[in-house]
Amino acid sequence: MFNNAEFKGKRVLITGASRGIGRKIALAFAEEGCYVTAVARSKEQLDDLIHTISTKGLKGTAIQCDVTLEKQVIDTVLKAQNIMGDIDILINCAGIFKVTPSVEAAFEEWNEILETNLNGTFLFCREVSRIMIKNKRGKIINFGSLLSYTGFPERAAYAASKGGVLQLSKVLGIEWAKHGINVNTLIPGMIEVETPHPVKSITKEHIINRIPNGKYGMPADVIGPTLFLASSHSDYINGQALVVDGGWLSNGYI
Ligand code: NDP
Repeated sequence: MFNNAEFKGKRVLITGASRGIGRKIALAFAEEGCYVTAVARSKEQLDDLIHTISTKGLKGTAIQCDVTLEKQVIDTVLKAQNIMGDIDILINCAGIFKVTPSVEAAFEEWNEILETNLNGTFLFCREVSRIMIKNKRGKIINFGSLLSYTGFPERAAYAASKGGVLQLSKVLGIEWAKHGINVNTLIPGMIEVETPHPVKSITKEHIINRIPNGKYGMPADVIGPTLFLASSHSDYINGQALVVDGGWLSNGYI
């Protein structure tokens, strides 16, 4: 897509790569000439991704990891480093989403969402930052959501977690800028994936009516902006967010 020589040989670790947006991004970075380590829990889906990458003659490896577990995150980063070398680009895409009236929300569900979306992102940032600080360079892209900015009924834990990701990325961006590391948030709008996000009380038609571009985004719409944030073209962008939503967030009309 970018066909940018600067990506050739770069080492990328991406979480949430077994399906959805993360899978497409992993493939795109491999196609740019990167060595990709794909991280998620589902072995079969990861193996399928690596099979696709290697049949194209590209480089990739898979590591099974639950991002909520500190020891697994630490081991995964070490393993990725042993296999492909120091990590140049980290993409935290793993995330879960649930719709529950807050008054009924079980504490287990609250914790699961915060632990996956926020704690998992923090743990990978912390572990990979040690490599990037040593090398005095690195790009980190964390996945937020429209709910990093706006509220939405029955999505308290998700909104809290994604608001947290946005704030976390700002702090890490300014803290590690002196080490040559950029930490930014990618904010996808409504993106069509195989496992659709439950919307319950609202219809798909209602959502589309609110999107100025008039349609859901596709994972492919997120690839270019992610590559941009991982490239030298965005070296002076730090602690920022890039919103890829067909205008949804700017639209106060409906
Ligand atoms: P999917 O549900 O399609 O994929 C989620 C990915 O996260 C899977 O690879 C899953 O792998 C991984 N994951 C979930 N829990 C864990 C865990 N505990 N440990 C490791 N991996 C985990 O999601 P999308 O592709 O739709 O979303 C990707 C990111 O973009 C998420 O952060 C999401 O919040 C965000 N986003 C998506 C939007 C959309 O419209 N699609 C809108 C706004 C934000 P596995 O189950 O194999 O572990």
